[in-house]
Amino acid sequence: MHRVYNFSAGPAVLPEEVLQEAAAEMLDYRGTGMSVMEMSHRSAAFEEIIQTAEADLRALMGIPDNYQVLFLQGGASQQFAAIPMNLMRHGVADYIVTGQWAKKAYQEAQKYGKAVKIASSEDETFSYIPDCSDLPIDEAADYVYICENNTIYGTKFHTLPNTKGKPLVADVSSCFLSEPMDVTKYAVIYGGVQKNIGPAGVVIAIIRDDMIPETPAVENTPTMLAWKTQADAHSLYNTPPCYGIYICGKVFQWIKKMGGLEAMQQRNIAKAKVLYDFLDESRLFKGTVRREDRSLMNVPFVTGDKALDAKFVKEAAAAGFVNLKGHRTVGGMRASIYNAMPIEGVEKLVEFMRKFEADNA
Ligand SMILES: *Cc1c(COP(=O)(O)O)cnc(C)c1O
Repeated sequence: MHRVYNFSAGPAVLPEEVLQEAAAEMLDYRGTGMSVMEMSHRSAAFEEIIQTAEADLRALMGIPDNYQVLFLQGGASQQFAAIPMNLMRHGVADYIVTGQWAKKAYQEAQKYGKAVKIASSEDETFSYIPDCSDLPIDEAADYVYICENNTIYGTKFHTLPNTKGKPLVADVSSCFLSEPMDVTKYAVIYGGVQKNIGPAGVVIAIIRDDMIPETPAVENTPTMLAWKTQADAHSLYNTPPCYGIYICGKVFQWIKKMGGLEAMQQRNIAKAKVLYDFLDESRLFKGTVRREDRSLMNVPFVTGDKALDAKFVKEAAAAGFVNLKGHRTVGGMRASIYNAMPIEGVEKLVEFMRKFEADNA
């Protein structure tokens, strides 16, 4: 068997232990004589899988009882529409645009009401997080929206915006479970799991009860997109992505075993430090993000020479460090170093970069 160091931004690396466990249970899940893929979502075995997954996630994040935890489909992108459809009761929402994903959410919301861009870092290719301490929040705004970790650009909100009392909605796709977070500061937290938690096809939404309207704000919202439908049915209104939820549950258990979110954070800080310290001293490579806004999860960097970037990506892949090519809108390289990337992966990558620098600088 041959495994690479996979620096993909998503779908991304999963803990090897989780994959091995899933492999062992593939043909016969705990005496049921079938795979989780083959089982009814109404079966006792699956009920236990989804309930345990929810309980473990609640314990890991310290999710209070007045928040619902929903396992949904359609990717994070579908929530770009579901959020305004459920919440735009007054037809206004404020968006902080710090990257492509926030921009897409902002554009989608414009279909349903007045979405206002109250801050942006597009002027400098989204390489920083704007000052959000005193923004012109609209009196009528139904919520303030952020993308907390910008997967493509490698920035992260290390301080949450001052929403002046308005509910905060956050896309945490690429920083989900990477560190502890105070759930009570948010009205809605959501993310696709394929960055840091599980296989593509599951979105987890953590929604405060008062943000789940009896009827969605937007008329003719599809039944499936009304959060109330999903909350009332405990994510089992229709057939959920059963196998994906099962793997998410295994990742929650793995994180618990690793010591929970504080331990994840320490691990992630140590890992990112290896790479950022090298970038800060390198003669060839440099990071593209303002230092104080750097993400622990996604680390973009460049040599400043496109041909050399391409050579690096190619040689790195041949050496077993794959998916290092930067996003098509940024160029250069990006190393995504999610929870499941071991520190040895980052150390070995830096060793390889050092050698490349010696040979090419
Ligand atoms: C990947 C990503 C998305 C899009 O996720 P899909 O599940 O493909 O819709 C949205 N937001 C962020 C921050 C992401 O990293």
